[in-house]
Amino acid sequence: MSENKKAEKITAVKGMNDILPQDSHLWQLFENTAQSVVQSYGFQQIRTPIVEDTALFKRAIGAVTDIVEKEMYSFTDSMNGDQLTLRPEGTAGAVRAVIEHNLVYEGPKRVWYTGPMFRHERPQRGRYRQFYQFGCEAVGFTGPDIDAEMIMLCRRLWDDLGLENIRLELNSIGDAGERARHRVDLIAYLESHEALLDAEAKRRLHSNPLRILDTKNPAMQDMVNGAPKLLDYLGEESLAHFNGVRKILDHNNIPYVINPRLVRGLDYYNRTVFEWVTDALGSQGTVCAGGRYDPLIASFGGKPTPAVGFAMGIERLLELMKEVGEPEQPNLCDVYLVHQGEAAQLQSFVLGERLRDAGLDVIMHGSTANGPGSFKNQMKKADGSGASFAVIIGEDEVTNHTASVKAMRGAEGEQQATVPFDEVVDYVVDQITGSGDHHHHVHDEHCNH
Ligand code: ATP
Ligand code: MG
Repeated sequence: MSENKKAEKITAVKGMNDILPQDSHLWQLFENTAQSVVQSYGFQQIRTPIVEDTALFKRAIGAVTDIVEKEMYSFTDSMNGDQLTLRPEGTAGAVRAVIEHNLVYEGPKRVWYTGPMFRHERPQRGRYRQFYQFGCEAVGFTGPDIDAEMIMLCRRLWDDLGLENIRLELNSIGDAGERARHRVDLIAYLESHEALLDAEAKRRLHSNPLRILDTKNPAMQDMVNGAPKLLDYLGEESLAHFNGVRKILDHNNIPYVINPRLVRGLDYYNRTVFEWVTDALGSQGTVCAGGRYDPLIASFGGKPTPAVGFAMGIERLLELMKEVGEPEQPNLCDVYLVHQGEAAQLQSFVLGERLRDAGLDVIMHGSTANGPGSFKNQMKKADGSGASFAVIIGEDEVTNHTASVKAMRGAEGEQQATVPFDEVVDYVVDQITGSGDHHHHVHDEHCNH
């Protein structure tokens, strides 16, 4: 590259977003809240690789699905020719790991995961090519109780996040036999309305007709509303399971609407399916989707083991959180260290470590191309950091073995004090814990709400 030519800028991949420092506190608020909610139900975290064998997703998700047909980031490993895929969802990897490490043989398990997922879709509001999910899987439980527990766990999370107006839609898609009987009638019905089917529906008519029911094509809505309902095909056991879920939800005053058109896009689901939906996000209104997938584990070669899970889209939930009111930006630190001269800088380093030992968050003024900067400039930075105190060490302080402690905006108590060097930590901790200042970090992890 010639010297007078500006280097070309490289930007992020389309549909894949940076999460910047000004937004990361909102992400942390979500993640911390979600983690503490699932922990309160006994779920343990599982962390699986972002890249898996392509065959895993083809088998787990099903060949005739949006994801496998057109959304997967698949590639050949140029080193050895392996067919690999960036995970489009979290269930397949979690279940693979549970089987591979024989976790199911130890008894039922409740696990949760979070992380990035990848789907090659058209980027738009609430729909990205790298997006984040938070999900849970409960493996080895048969009864409707765990389905209801999962739903109640979500409800608790919405409450803890202060989110209202997320409604629960519920359905049962029965078992394979029930779906097979429904399928015959569904195909006959759809064929009798063939003129109304769009190209995608025509293509799916014989491969995955159930998916036609959740079409987003407005022109097909009336027609699919009149289609045979799976609920009418449920046998005694499936119906009992469905009613079992409903009974627990009713008993706990969890409102829901039964949506007979609710089918999951993933082939391995059975019985309970549910979605949490909001009208506040335009057309990308589903914030969480889940259900039972009893047949999956056996289809992977594992011992037949029932399972139920859900995944929520974090970006969509953060958008909802922002609408309710964005939480205040947390302060960057409790104490900002201002120093002039080499000896003072060395003293500040020692003090910084001692303050951090005491549990405080400390920013030490750092040098830039212009050097350490004037006292005035450093105080400006201290102010901008939101620190409760600036601790100042200059030449006089070095000579006298003291530091000047200045209360910043919002801090109560003495405005400025000269404190012996060895007493600075106690002094600052006393001031902060005694002042009733809600923004300090001592003994308080969740300082921002
Ligand atoms: P949709 O019908 O919106 O495409 P889906 O059925 O593909 O959803 P799931 O596979 O069930 O979605 O994923 C669970 C949740 O993850 C969704 O309800 C949504 O909140 C979120 N999600 C799915 N795809 C994306 C995406 N591309 N960008 C952002 N969030 C997404
Ligand atoms: Mg999708």
